[in-house]
Amino acid sequence: MIYLDNSATTAVDEAVVEAMLPWLTKNYGNASSIYSLGRAARVAVEDARAEIAHLLGAHPAEIFFTSGGTESNNTIIKSVLHESDLADAVCVSPTEHHAVLEPAHSAVGGGKGLYVLPVDADGRVTVSEVPAVNRRRTLVSVMHANNETGVVQPVYDVRQAAPDVYLHSDAVQSFGKITVKVDDLGVDFLSVSAHKIHGPKGIGAMYIRKGIDFKAHQHGGAQERNRRAGTEPVHLIVGFQVAARRAAADLEHRATVMMERTRQLREGIAREIPNIRVNTPETGVLPNIINISFLDAERLDGEGILQALDMAGLAVSNGSACVSGSQQPSHVLLAMGRSKAEALAAVRLSVSYTTTQEEIFSAITILADVIREMRG
Ligand code: PLP
Repeated sequence: MIYLDNSATTAVDEAVVEAMLPWLTKNYGNASSIYSLGRAARVAVEDARAEIAHLLGAHPAEIFFTSGGTESNNTIIKSVLHESDLADAVCVSPTEHHAVLEPAHSAVGGGKGLYVLPVDADGRVTVSEVPAVNRRRTLVSVMHANNETGVVQPVYDVRQAAPDVYLHSDAVQSFGKITVKVDDLGVDFLSVSAHKIHGPKGIGAMYIRKGIDFKAHQHGGAQERNRRAGTEPVHLIVGFQVAARRAAADLEHRATVMMERTRQLREGIAREIPNIRVNTPETGVLPNIINISFLDAERLDGEGILQALDMAGLAVSNGSACVSGSQQPSHVLLAMGRSKAEALAAVRLSVSYTTTQEEIFSAITILADVIREMRG
């Protein structure tokens, strides 16, 4: 199986597994317990917090562990609008992950409003429209990099255009792949996750800028300084720390390898498969994602493409969600102005720093064969 779905999740690095194991077997204490087993766990959690904070250019007191990107996004949006009551409106780009869009939709009502910023054909927010939402009690949520196309959003320009708002960015796809520093982005809130960077699933963090009166969305424990209730999963937190450390230490090398692989994919696909559109622009994107759609998409079945590729030994994905058994077109590609057929039949290929050149060449052949066959 050739795995080109690293934006969905990644294999956990062996060094990460090794670092996690003692916290499952020997040092299994609860970080809130006062005896030595608990205190050792507390030290590990605080050490991880300090390192992840440092990587993000934040203060340790601004980092709160969660179960991942979904929980961080939900907590920030719902708390800012409700528990903390810091905003009367939420403003999102239409290409956000569902873990931003759905909480934003569900948080409105009862006097709270929702605004959707326009995007261009590459999916980048139209910064000139941002000043219109620059009000003190507004939460703007613009992702750092898109999970379907890899497009990097001009988050800092959004901040410049809307200095008064609360600004959140979902950096789940960018963290560990490109530099992510909270001050460079100008954000008040940020969401990150471990399993996209060869860390374990079920762990992530939220950054909450110091001084913001943020109230928990989840209740029932005083952990994470009352911002997120629940016993800290020490092994996952340590795994996240080691994965983040390794990604940061090797950032440039990994990015170079991944850029070379996506360049090979881009060239090979363009050479072997006629009638396609590359939805990932060549610049201002993550190094690891390339998204393509087919200009004769109405003749192709999006789900069928993925199934045929799977049978041929290639794991990729598309952005279209399967809702109640029926395939829905990608909301990202629709927002970029693509047709419903193109938004249904798109393919996202996402590489890792471990992906080999041979895997890329085989993947191009498999994809070309499958599409040729389906076109008849
Ligand atoms: N945000 C983005 C941009 C993502 O790509 C994902 C994962 O697919 C998430 C949020 C959800 O993160 P997690 O799987 O850690 O809950």
